[in-house]
Amino acid sequence: MTFTATVLTLYPEMFPGPLGVSLAGRALEQGKWSMDAVQIRDFAIDKHRTVDDTPAGGGAGMVLRVDVLAKAVDFARQNLADRPVIAMTPRGRPLTQQRVRELAAGPGVIVLCGRFEGFDERIFEGRQVEEVSVGDIVLSGGECAALMLLDACIRLLPGVMGAASSGTEESFENGLLEYPHYTRPAEWEGRLIPEVLRSGDHGKIAEWRKRRSEVDTRSRRPDLWERHTGVRVQSASGAQRDVQDD
Ligand code: SAH
Repeated sequence: MTFTATVLTLYPEMFPGPLGVSLAGRALEQGKWSMDAVQIRDFAIDKHRTVDDTPAGGGAGMVLRVDVLAKAVDFARQNLADRPVIAMTPRGRPLTQQRVRELAAGPGVIVLCGRFEGFDERIFEGRQVEEVSVGDIVLSGGECAALMLLDACIRLLPGVMGAASSGTEESFENGLLEYPHYTRPAEWEGRLIPEVLRSGDHGKIAEWRKRRSEVDTRSRRPDLWERHTGVRVQSASGAQRDVQDD
C-alpha cells in the first residue's frame, strides 16, 4: 500500500513544496507515496468562509474554530479511516525518530496545520488528534512542521533511500548521535581527516565511530545519553561535567 499524506492547511500551495524535489520528489513521481493538500477554508460554515475567531477569555490573536476543523478532519478520514491524525503544535509531544518509524510503517498520516494562535483545544479529544511538536521553537504556521514530519517519514519508505544501511546507522536510531563524517581532500586548510579513518582497518574504524558516537552524545546531548545509559551526566557537586574528546 502507498503511504498517503493528507495535509489540512490554509496554505495548500505550500505543498508538496520542498517534498517535490530530490529524494522525496522522485519517490512522489514514482508513486511510492502520495499527498493531498486540503484547504481548511473549504469547510467553513458561514458565507464569509471564516475559519477563526477571537480567543475565549480575551487576549491577542485568533483561534482556529473547532467546528470547521472537525469537518476538515472528518472529510480527510472518509477515504482512509485508519490513518492517524496529527496536529502540529508546540504544545505537542516532541517528534522522535521512533514515532517517525512507526508512522512510516503505516498507511500514512493526516496532518493538521495550525495558524494564528493555534487550534481550539476541543478538537484533540473530540477527534482523537495526536499533538506533535517539532522542537522548542515557535513557527508562524504548522506547514513547515508538517513538511519536516513528512520528509522524515518519506525517506524511510521502501525503495526511497539509496543505501539500505543508511537508515539504521543514523543519529537517534540506536538512541545516540551518529559519529562525524569526512571525505576528500585528506587535508584541508591544515586540517586532517582522522588517521584511523584512512587506515583501512575496519575493526578500528568501527571502534572509533562507536566511541565518537558515545562521546559526542554525552557532551552534546546529555538528555539522550541519560536515556541510553540510565546514568546521569553529573559530577558529585551537581555541576554538569565537561566530557573531553580523546
Ligand atoms: N500560540 C501558540 C503558537 C502558535 S504558532 C503557542 O504558543 O503554543 C502557529 C501554528 O504554528 C501552530 O498552531 C502550529 O500549527 C505551528 N507551530 C508553531 N510552532 C510549532 C512547533 N514547534 N511544532 C509544531 N508546530 C508548530
